[in-house]
Amino acid sequence: MYTYEELKKFVEHCSRCPLSQTRNKAVMGKGNLKSPVLFVAEAPGRNEDRDGVPFTGKSGVLFDRLLSEINLSREEVYITNVVKCNPPGNRDPQPSEQELCIPYLKYETLMLRPKIIVCLGRIAAQRLIDPHYKITREHGTFLFRKNTWLTAFYHPSAVLRDEGKLGEMQADFQKLKEKLGEIDACDFTSNSPN
Ligand code: SF4
Repeated sequence: MYTYEELKKFVEHCSRCPLSQTRNKAVMGKGNLKSPVLFVAEAPGRNEDRDGVPFTGKSGVLFDRLLSEINLSREEVYITNVVKCNPPGNRDPQPSEQELCIPYLKYETLMLRPKIIVCLGRIAAQRLIDPHYKITREHGTFLFRKNTWLTAFYHPSAVLRDEGKLGEMQADFQKLKEKLGEIDACDFTSNSPN
């Protein structure tokens, strides 16, 4: 089992897939390693590629706002992506790229042992929940698998493109708050990976 710092170094120097040739910075997940909540989006965007940090820019600002509405902060959750490098032109990561990168996400999941995994957007949901997942129909529903609750919300960038989705996303974050209450996971120190 690797430490977070070891895994971060592997990611930052990774050349397992062709995205290593076009990225600026590989983006390792970031956050509280004892958090019961793991957020997983599809891939770093342009800002993240520049900064080397997940969820910066306008999407990050919206994400922080949605977290604050349920009394959480970035420091209390962990956020990462299915692939750690920005696909050219912000295209969807290809299945072959996801396949080569997914071991990093598996290690992150092993480190955190989260009680809830929230996929942000269709690509992450189809990768982690169901290849036929319909984000518009199924977002905000929870299913229990391998001792972990799984759900998917819209990606914040989808809400930035269509503000009509904001209310649904706020409602989904409220469901996350309720689920955290149900599983009594509010004590974030109780999920130590050790
Ligand atoms: S996307 Fe993942 S597998 Fe591909 S180069 Fe980046 S870190 Fe490596």
